[in-house]
Amino acid sequence: MNAIGMIAIGTVDPPLLTAIADEVRRTFRHPVSMLPPAPEPAFAFDERRGQYSSVLVLRSLLDRVQPSMIRILGVTAKDLFIPMLSFVLGQAQLNGRVAVISLARLQQQFYGFPPDPELLQARAIKEAVHEIGHTFGLTHCTDVRCPMSLSNNVHHVDTKGHVLCTACAAVFNEHLDHLRAGDDPPGAAG
Ligand SMILES: [Zn+2]
Ligand SMILES: [Zn+2]
Repeated sequence: MNAIGMIAIGTVDPPLLTAIADEVRRTFRHPVSMLPPAPEPAFAFDERRGQYSSVLVLRSLLDRVQPSMIRILGVTAKDLFIPMLSFVLGQAQLNGRVAVISLARLQQQFYGFPPDPELLQARAIKEAVHEIGHTFGLTHCTDVRCPMSLSNNVHHVDTKGHVLCTACAAVFNEHLDHLRAGDDPPGAAG
């Protein structure tokens, strides 16, 4: 019960998944196990908005958590939303088990530019670290270079790095100590 599970929800480029997995393993110091891909999240589609409900996707991930996993990260190319926002780049349960990132708005094509796989990978890694960070109790950081700083758009994503700042790393280390002690506090969505 110590792996971080990763799952493609629908079609996601395998090398991109591998690159995200490598960084997640490094940052959070847990093994990453890749699950077989899930189908496209048709159940979460909102016809009125033409987007996918991030809340419903997260809920579906809860059903996929296996006993060997402490966390699970879903990666989807679909555009996600929560009711109060026009879109989200990702969502996670604060101190919970599940997180999801959307690649839709991390892709240059979304803004009318040619595809840039390297830039997409860099952005996806930062957002994966951000959302998994929430599941390990990290909240938004005021250091704009820290991956835990809030990104409202892709320019913010490009401003930040992928390495946790000293303060966030300290909070994560503390959380690890709690995990080792068998005490994993539940929390609300964040
Ligand atoms: Zn956040
Ligand atoms: Zn930070």
